[in-house]
Amino acid sequence: MFESLSDRLSGVFDKLRGRGALTEDDVRTAMREVRVALLEADVALPVVREFVDKATERAVGSDVLRSVTPGQMVVKIVSDTLTEFLGADSSELLLDVTPPAVIMMVGLQGSGKTTTTAKIAKRLKEKERKKVMMASLDVNRPAAQEQLAILGTQIDVATLPIVAGQQPVDIARRALQSAKLQGFDVVMLDTAGRLHVDQALMDEMKAVAAASVPQEILLVVDALTGQDAVNVAKNFTEQVPLTGVVLTRMDGDARGGAALSMRAVTGSPIKFAGTGEKLDAIEPFHPQRVAQRILG
Ligand code: GDP
Repeated sequence: MFESLSDRLSGVFDKLRGRGALTEDDVRTAMREVRVALLEADVALPVVREFVDKATERAVGSDVLRSVTPGQMVVKIVSDTLTEFLGADSSELLLDVTPPAVIMMVGLQGSGKTTTTAKIAKRLKEKERKKVMMASLDVNRPAAQEQLAILGTQIDVATLPIVAGQQPVDIARRALQSAKLQGFDVVMLDTAGRLHVDQALMDEMKAVAAASVPQEILLVVDALTGQDAVNVAKNFTEQVPLTGVVLTRMDGDARGGAALSMRAVTGSPIKFAGTGEKLDAIEPFHPQRVAQRILG
């Protein structure tokens, strides 16, 4: 991932490092190249502008240009700005409540929501020794509930027994009650997706959130859809209080535009990156490490 951005930026950086003194014009020329690199990586235009303005403002300061190694300092400024845009600190799941903690998964159909639900459940079980229950609230798509049950069997995580004809809010209530009675630490609610953002989807999500009071509402979006992913996230943010985003298919995303725009556009941190179809192909998103990967 991020290959072309990485190549482009290293070209700009090599030029900067190779020079002794730098003028303000040199910095502006370098920033124009950074701008092109970000646009080619499919970063949202307003985010590119904000990025370049911020980095330029920091870099043309007299301390930088008069320093012994101005090239190095400008490189560091661009790197730090990149980390900042990726989200600065990594964001953990906040599940520190009287159990059961509730994680609500939302997103469009096909984004990888159900797979991601199972991936996170597996992580919580294996890495944090949590007792996890998953429940599918998707009553629209035939076999959605069965799909989650099959994944549950694969990773040895409990799923709420399916009751035909029950509506999402009632399933959520039943999941919570059952988890409480059986001493589960975490309940994961896999809500229904739609092909597009529509009001019915939003209303259903709000009703489920009101009934289950989740600690985490994670939006799952497909990194390969680039700016669409960011727009979808913006729409969801306006309707429900997201606590984080999971970017799936990062394994196939060579450009990285969604990852770089997400925080600035939505204000929500990226908490995980999906990196493949297997159920352990998920990584916590560490902005600093990702920035380092981009910067080579
Ligand atoms: P949902 O409709 O949002 O619940 O989507 P699914 O969870 O059913 O996933 C749709 C497809 O995307 C499945 O074939 C998954 O294996 C695949 N998928 C999910 N996450 C990732 C990922 O991070 N990388 C890759 N390569 N495939 C993924």
